[in-house]
Parts: sequence; structure tokens; C-alpha cells
Amino acid sequence: MSAVKTRFPPSPTGHLHLGGARTALFNWLFARHHGGSFLLRFEDTDRERSKQEYVDSIKEALEWLELYWDEGPYFQTQRLDIYAEYARKLFEEGKAYYCECSPEVLEQKRKKAIAEGRKPKYDGTCREKGLGPGPGRVLRFKCPQVGTTVVEDLIRGPVAFDNQELDDFVLVRPDGIPTYQFAVVIDDLTMGITHVIRGDDHLSNTPKQILLFEALGATPPEYAHVPMILGPDGSRLSKRHGALSILAYRDEGYLPQAMRNYLVRLGWSYGDQEIFTLEEMIEKFDLSRVSKSPARFDPDKLLALNAHYIRQEDTERLAEMVLPFLAELGVKIENPHEEKFLKAVESVKPRARTLKEMAEMMKFYFVPEVEYEEKAAKKFLKAEILPVMEEILVALENMPTFEEKALEELFRGLAEKHQLKLKHVAQPVRVALTGRTVSPGLFEIMDILGKETVIKRLKKAIQYIKEQG
Ligand code: GLU
Repeated sequence: MSAVKTRFPPSPTGHLHLGGARTALFNWLFARHHGGSFLLRFEDTDRERSKQEYVDSIKEALEWLELYWDEGPYFQTQRLDIYAEYARKLFEEGKAYYCECSPEVLEQKRKKAIAEGRKPKYDGTCREKGLGPGPGRVLRFKCPQVGTTVVEDLIRGPVAFDNQELDDFVLVRPDGIPTYQFAVVIDDLTMGITHVIRGDDHLSNTPKQILLFEALGATPPEYAHVPMILGPDGSRLSKRHGALSILAYRDEGYLPQAMRNYLVRLGWSYGDQEIFTLEEMIEKFDLSRVSKSPARFDPDKLLALNAHYIRQEDTERLAEMVLPFLAELGVKIENPHEEKFLKAVESVKPRARTLKEMAEMMKFYFVPEVEYEEKAAKKFLKAEILPVMEEILVALENMPTFEEKALEELFRGLAEKHQLKLKHVAQPVRVALTGRTVSPGLFEIMDILGKETVIKRLKKAIQYIKEQG
């Protein structure tokens, strides 16, 4: 086998979605596993729907996932002369012919066929007319009308197609623009693609593409069709199942390694292993372990994986990654390498499932004034706790050092004295310091906030309780 070469050929008519990203990942991993190369190609012949904005965002998403391409990006619109040359060759060899049937007539025939219960396909009106190129004419492939074409799919095994069922499909439109079927074959051929890994919605295109390769006297690449991704409810994956765009996940605070790990498991497995480093994925990935049935998208699993990778991540790096999310909440951090900031990150690291959550959980450390969540204040900042709070305030003011252990002893002692459970003392203080009922460990946050801030916030809470009457 010559050196493996795979490709990812999105149409830049939208952002990179989960399905496309998985296809890119599988192609990338397959190439890396075999020491081959991976190229990027934009199938931008639909000029109306193709946008530079999508070219940019697809590249950005691939780069974010660290799926770097070795070749390209190519653009089909920059290769029109290559397609024209191959079109001429096929025409001259009698393997393609010009057709002058008008779209209206074709549409009528199509409707008639459907009404009569026949499969609508081009009826070959112009097949033997010997027409040359001319205005309004399309170039059609002279498809073999007998025999079968077998796709030796690397995932599903052989899939046979009756050639009779195939159309004399269009290769070049009247405006000279090649169709997808034609451009994809010329590209895969001239770019030396050895393996085409793509969604199984393309399976029905594959016999046509194989026949075209054969007509050009070339060997087709190997094909692998990956089953589709379904939503959690088993229906086709769509927007209502959550964000689909890869960059939207980045903006929600997912880490690229979590996303990659999640994507690789969408349809591929290796025993019951769930966590894969990039190196492991490259080493273990192969097409024989891709499932033949559709994968289901499970946003909770993705979230859990993200939480795992956040816990694994180096605190200094997390500190940098969380900055834009804090900025979005209006928190500006001067120095993310400062000890207090790193400690704050460390304190939420075990709990945050996304960087966005992390920023929300950390925000209280850095705001000038804590805002109380309504429910939290109602439940915990009540008159009956006032004497305890006041006592805590005094005790804290008199504490020489603000250490976790000493703080815990103080709280335990006070709880005992007032015949309260520790949590009944701790919760009001937590609300006073964070505004919320859930936070990192109370003594940990007191240590991070520092004595001055803790005292200030306690005083404010005491004042608040008094004002509530
Ligand atoms: N542009 C096609 C798509 O985005 C590529 C299909 C293929 O891999 O051949 O679906």
C-alpha cells in the first residue's frame, strides 16, 4: 500500500459541526496511525452558499481541535481548469456526452416516473445524439447499464449496487461548474487520496464515484462509511439537541482534548476504555473497530469528560484558559500567575465541568461586593443567626493567622457552644462570603479571600440581616 493519504473536504456553507468534526478526526487519526498525511479541501463550488466566513471558522475549529492538516487547504473553485481537462478527456473518449434536455422537461419526466411508481432517473434521451458542447448543455457520465458495482467498504464490508439503478449523472453544469460527484473524484484522484472516510449518507454516491475512477483508468481509493450520529432521543442529530457547532462548545468552555476524546468514542471503541490521550488514540485507532450502527450523542457524557479533563489540566494553564470567561463576567485579572488567583482556580477545579462554570464559580472571589442569591439569603441570612455571626466576626478579627485548621476549630467550637450543627454555622457564612449556598470548602475560600475581605463581607451580611428586621 502506498503511503496513506486521507482528506477532509467540507463545503464552506456552514460552521463545523459535531458530525463533520468526527469525520475530520477519524481521517486525521487514520493518517497519523499509518504515518500518512491528511489534507484539507474546501468544496466550494456552490458559490452562492459558500462563504469565506465559514472557511475561516472551519479552519479555526480544526485548529482548536489540533487537527492540523499536512496539505492544503485546496479550493475547488481554484481548480476549475483541472476539472475541465478531465471532462474533455471523458467526452473525447466517449465516456461522457452532452445533453440538451431542458430542466423543465426533465422535471416533467421525473414527476411522471414518480407518479407511475418508477424510480426517477435520466432516460438517456441525449445518450446517442452525439452532441457537442453548447449553451445550456450539461455533460453527463455514460454510466454502465449492466452489471453491479461493489463498494468494498472497510466498515460495512461489501455493498453491491446494480448499475441499472444508477443514473447518467451530470458531471459539468451548463456554467462549466463541476458537480460534487465529478469534482470529488478528480480531486481524490489527482491528490492521491488512498482512503476516503466519510459519513454513510455518501454511501449511495460511492458506486458512481468508483465507476468514474474506472472510466478514467484509475484505481479508486478505499472507502469507509461511518454511521451517522443520532440525538439522545434516537432521532437525527439536530440543533434542538444542543449546540452543534464545534466553536460553540469552545465558547461554552469545553477543552479541545475533551471534545476530541468525546468525538473519537462516537462510533469507535477500544474495549471499554473511555479516556484516551491523543497518543493513545493515534496508536489504537483503526477502522475495524468503528461500529456499524449509529452513535448517539450524549451531552451529559461530553460534560462529564470535560470535567475529567479540567481536573487533569495543569492549574497554571487553566488559570490562563479561564481568563476570557471571567472577563465575560466583568472580572479582570491583572496577573493570572499570582498565588491567590491560582489558589482560586485550584479551589474550583474539582467541581467545574466547563471553563464557563469555572468562571461563574470563581467570580465571587474577585467582585468588590457579593450579591446574594435571593433564595440563599432568605434561607440563611436570618435574624436568629445574628448573634452567632457577630461572635464569629469578633473571633475572626482577633485571629492572628487565617489558617484552614484554626478556622475549622473556631467554627466547630462555636457550633458546639450554640448547640448547632457545623453546617448551620457554616452556611450563613458561606452565603455572606460567596452569595451562594454552594462553593468550594468554606475554610479554603476564607484563606483565599484573606482576612480583610472576609471581615468586610461578614460585616455587610450582619448589616443586611439587621436591615431585614
Ligand atoms: N463536501 C462533501 C460534504 O461535506 C464531502 C463528501 C466527501 O467526503 O466526499 O459532505
